[in-house]
Amino acid sequence: MTAVEILSKLVSFPVLGGQSNISIAEWIESHLTTHGVAFCNVPNEDGSKRSIHCRIGPAVDGGLILSGHMDVVPTEGQPWETNPFELTDVGDDKLYARGSCDMKGFIACCLAMVPEMVAADLKVPIYLALSYDEEIGCIAAPALAADIVSHYSEVPKFAIIGEATMMRPAVGQKGIVIYKTTVNGSAGHSSRIKQEVSAINEAARLILWLEEKMNRLIDEGQVDERFVPPHTTIHCGLMEKSGIAPNVIADSATFYWDVRVIPKDKSVDILEEFRAYCAELELENRKRFPDFKVETTEDHPDVPPLDTPEQLEVVPLIKKLTGKEELITVSYAAEAGQFAEVGFQSVICGPGDIAQAHRADEFVSKAQLESCTAMLKKLIEEFSV
Ligand SMILES: [Zn+2]
Repeated sequence: MTAVEILSKLVSFPVLGGQSNISIAEWIESHLTTHGVAFCNVPNEDGSKRSIHCRIGPAVDGGLILSGHMDVVPTEGQPWETNPFELTDVGDDKLYARGSCDMKGFIACCLAMVPEMVAADLKVPIYLALSYDEEIGCIAAPALAADIVSHYSEVPKFAIIGEATMMRPAVGQKGIVIYKTTVNGSAGHSSRIKQEVSAINEAARLILWLEEKMNRLIDEGQVDERFVPPHTTIHCGLMEKSGIAPNVIADSATFYWDVRVIPKDKSVDILEEFRAYCAELELENRKRFPDFKVETTEDHPDVPPLDTPEQLEVVPLIKKLTGKEELITVSYAAEAGQFAEVGFQSVICGPGDIAQAHRADEFVSKAQLESCTAMLKKLIEEFSV
């Protein structure tokens, strides 16, 4: 099967992040079996989802992991011109479907090359690692990467995470985490604002503190010019309905905030400092209302940033495979930092433009799929000598 044929099969499985992915996993597994490739599963607790990994080539240390995620984002409410779960070729070199770019195009190229990988005289192995639930917080990658380490006696050296970069090598990625903060204040007549504690007022103080913290980091020189913007961002994007009427003091307020860190900042440090400020507010407000409380929990797992130093071997390798000298960074979340944490030298490089991802009429161009296939052919060649 060609990459385009495989892609049209893969996009027909409308598996969203959070949903069972057994249907698409089974299809991929049968493709591997057809080509004589044994695979392993890393299931979730109730068995409704599973990651897949396999190794093609000799059982020796080294080699490279090709990594992708099988889930996609929803299409609901988006003005699609085509059926999002049917690969549509309208003759403009673009292949339209949900997931064509993010990131079933990459998986399709990898699967189409499996017969060539099997037939090649590989000196070091090529691994495939396919996860689920990437789109709702890179949930499955840590267990998948850990299973690759524990399952095989030999250790892979490199990983390419095939997120859309227009086939340009990306060596840096911001991390992301989302927190939920709930403030518990005291209700009362609004005339008693000096006796009660308004949860909304205290939440407002906390949200402004977050913005000031971001600005402080910038002022302290915590910048990394490789990223746009070149600093960690901290932002509150959602407040739950808080309070019941303009003339009633709100006894509860909840807001969500995201932190997108450059590699030199750590989200846990920011959280720790935020919690210290919350403790100060608690101390102060409990004089008026003893049950005053601020609670913060993780609402989206802490996905680490990627920062692959240029002196690592994976950098010249990916330059050679893509024929591109320029290294880029990306500001979206991906599983690359999680693969790097396990010890694999990791880069992000895949077909399609991230600008097409997550929106109506998502597409990948045939030219991009071809250059991904060319990279994989080069990889096989490189590993065969
Ligand atoms: Zn993706």
